[in-house]
Amino acid sequence: MSRIIDGKLFAQRLREFIGQQVAIIKTEHGVVPGLATILVGQNPASEVYVRNKARQTVEAGMASFKHTLDATISQAELLGLIAELNANEDVHGILVQLPLPAHISAERVINAIDPRKDVDGFHVSNVGMLGTGQPAMLPCTPLGCMMLLREQFGSLTGKNALVVGRSNIVGKPMAQLLLADDCTVTIAHRYSENLEEHCRRADILVMAVGKPQMIPGTWIKPGATVIDVGINRIERNGKPTLVGDVDFTSASEVAGAITPVPGGVGPMTIACLLLNTLTAFCRSKGMPEPANSGLELVNGIGVIQEFKKAS
Ligand code: NDP
Repeated sequence: MSRIIDGKLFAQRLREFIGQQVAIIKTEHGVVPGLATILVGQNPASEVYVRNKARQTVEAGMASFKHTLDATISQAELLGLIAELNANEDVHGILVQLPLPAHISAERVINAIDPRKDVDGFHVSNVGMLGTGQPAMLPCTPLGCMMLLREQFGSLTGKNALVVGRSNIVGKPMAQLLLADDCTVTIAHRYSENLEEHCRRADILVMAVGKPQMIPGTWIKPGATVIDVGINRIERNGKPTLVGDVDFTSASEVAGAITPVPGGVGPMTIACLLLNTLTAFCRSKGMPEPANSGLELVNGIGVIQEFKKAS
């Protein structure tokens, strides 16, 4: 039976660590980091995500600036709001909730955010910095996955890592981060052949596809670490249920460690958004960063060391 990687607990500790840092900054400097969220339209899932992000921002002691816009807003108006937030010194992070309505170019909007405030790590400059080993703002979900992996392994050097999925927000940056951590990385996508063989060789399997339970336990290398990013809504016994891209029941018989869905990667994503906001704040003020963020990846490690000291 696998070790269950408790992302919920890790994320809670990370949020507590961030809250402590924010409290110290507030006491010593009389200011707090601020995160602006922009939600366009009425997508119910996006509304829940933005509400949770704003709530956890406030719980960490940061300022939250919520902008809820009508789906009919023009691209020019949205770009105008982003320009205002770029110039606002109380705002250190800007998050535009995706997807955007079809008449607005997500690329244009994301690339209009000041890269120093791009706490999602999606701006083309941050993507380029990540790819070239410079200190980037790292995308939240892959950053959260790396923290969980670092906690599991310490060093990832030389591990065979398979990332299934190549989206700009999860798969590609995840692969870059694993590469930066000296893994041998394979990226699979819908046209990949022999996925089962690739899976069987992987010491680390990161699933980021969005297909319920597509990987059975029989495909997993015994003792491997499985990070399941997928979030899929299915019906089980007539009830709506969340499952990952991996068949958890059979996989947990074989894997050495596995993230559950829910309670694995998901909670880490928001915690890393808060961490990125704190990092952006510290960089804007020339203060030491909370945990050595940047490509050394040790955004994760720094936090883990802090936890070890604290516990
Ligand atoms: P995308 O739809 O953007 O990308 C999915 C990727 O999966 C694509 O690269 C696609 O390949 C690949 N793919 C599709 N079918 C197959 C297949 N049969 N075999 C191998 N690869 C396949 O999704 P995201 O990256 O945005 O999200 C992936 C999952 O992660 C979703 O379930 C999403 O809900 C979840 N998610 C969870 C987060 C969290 O916080 N836990 C955060 C973000 C996402 P191709 O490029 O060839 O089309």
